[in-house]
Amino acid sequence: MTSPHRSPLSIVLAGSAWLAVLGNLALWQALWQLPDLHDGRGVVMGLVMAGMVFCLCVSLLSLLSWRGLLRPTLLLLALITALSTHYMMSYGIVIDTTMVINVLQTDVGEARDQLSPSVLLSVLLIVLPLAWWMWRRPLVWPRWPVQGVHNLGLLLGGVVGTFLLTYLSFQDFSTLMRNQTQMRYLINPLNTVYALAEVVLIPTQVDQQIRPLGEDAKIVPLPNRNDKGNASSSQAWGAQPPLLVIALGETARSSNFSLNGYARNTNPALQQLGVLSYRQVSSCGTSTAASLPCMFSHLGRVGHEARTAEYENLLDVLTRAGYHVMWIDNQSGCKGLCDRITSVRTSQLSLKTPECSKGECMDAVLLPVMKDQLDQLGPLRTSTPSAPRERAGTVVVLHLMGSHGPAYFKRSRAPHKPFQPECTSIVLSDCSQQEIVNAYDNSLVYTDHVLSELIQWLRQQAVQRPTGMIYISDHGESLGENNLYLHGMPYAIAPKVQTHVPLITWWSDQFQQVRGIRHECLKQDLERPLSHDNLYHSVLGLLRVQTQSYQAELDLFRRCDPYASR
Ligand SMILES: [Zn+2]
Repeated sequence: MTSPHRSPLSIVLAGSAWLAVLGNLALWQALWQLPDLHDGRGVVMGLVMAGMVFCLCVSLLSLLSWRGLLRPTLLLLALITALSTHYMMSYGIVIDTTMVINVLQTDVGEARDQLSPSVLLSVLLIVLPLAWWMWRRPLVWPRWPVQGVHNLGLLLGGVVGTFLLTYLSFQDFSTLMRNQTQMRYLINPLNTVYALAEVVLIPTQVDQQIRPLGEDAKIVPLPNRNDKGNASSSQAWGAQPPLLVIALGETARSSNFSLNGYARNTNPALQQLGVLSYRQVSSCGTSTAASLPCMFSHLGRVGHEARTAEYENLLDVLTRAGYHVMWIDNQSGCKGLCDRITSVRTSQLSLKTPECSKGECMDAVLLPVMKDQLDQLGPLRTSTPSAPRERAGTVVVLHLMGSHGPAYFKRSRAPHKPFQPECTSIVLSDCSQQEIVNAYDNSLVYTDHVLSELIQWLRQQAVQRPTGMIYISDHGESLGENNLYLHGMPYAIAPKVQTHVPLITWWSDQFQQVRGIRHECLKQDLERPLSHDNLYHSVLGLLRVQTQSYQAELDLFRRCDPYASR
């Protein structure tokens, strides 16, 4: 005979068991696939871990077991667990702090690309039965002091249970956690709770007050431009202030660029334009949220991770030195990098063009939007030396949509879709690996087209001013190798395809001549091991910005720079 009521205790115990067993299908699958656990020991280990997760969930829920709080919290945990399980099993992703930050920064368009019937199915299977069971009968609460005692008992029970299970299985368990680091990111829903707690607590470790950077920044005039001996920043480049475009790629992996040796021709246009492609470049992170702030930072990957305060970035330093800097975004924003400079988001321009629909634009809009923004800046030079428009040159960052997944097919348009058939589902598991790679490679062909249009325009502009372009991607992508998809793996265990990124540069003849840095020399560095750490210092060196945070040894162009002080 069943009771007509539910007690908070039954909700905590049954909810924890439900989450521990059903919410960890991805973990059980991963455990089962370990070669040395593919037998009875694997089953025992699975049971022990299920017991641990159960005890920890009981402890967690004991803190939340109060009227009005318990059932909604459990429902939320079940929802998080269902979504995590879905993406773990479909794409091999794991949940860590960076992943949580990525999810928190996702915009509507990105979220829409992720929603599919199979996500709903996972949610329905894991969340709905639990919700139905919880709310089917009325919940009867004892008076709060009694509930407090119950909760304390549950908390103690959960903690003791966890310790006991850990103690009994210590050898096997610790070996497993040491050798299979990724396992701990699979433990639902504790991975998410842990990562969320870390995200919330990090601001107490990193001082959020943004420290100024490059207050001493100034442009050192090129020697032959400094005849008068007292050139102002606007005269540093003589009568021709340069235009540098930094094109920020998205999810482009180096190994799929034909310029870097990929067997398919994914760079049909760029290969005709005399670009330089650096082949050994590694990223700072495996996601946009991790890589972007890091690549524009003066600290480099290790320093940025260990930072105790937030600093301004490369773009602020360039502005201080006298350059006009602007950010044009065709994606989910600049992650705070453009807060103090001119910035434009294509999705907010309500552009009347077939390149844009549903608040999302193809990368081809970036060039016309940039031209428009540059026109608004007015003439290259003004006659009055102190006019606010006076500037040493212009730096534009174009934030591409690139190969943003999983809807790779949306990132290219005919005729830039040479590889067929391509996956046209947002559920990658609906497609064969070849179809996924085809759609991805098409997105690179489209990026190749966008960059080549940009270069051709910069080449025309070079009659008036020295122009150049740096293209660099924020991180790579997994396309099903070892059953991994997308990106965002913790850096230490990320496969190389997620961290090996393209870096392509192009310099107009005028730029090479004025700046004295020539292709013939730069060509010898294409196999040099480089990383996002080099970007900050290389751009400063290239644009002749002298400042304390500049590190000459990280300046990629320095070896070929005839004007560098030695
Ligand atoms: Zn990204």
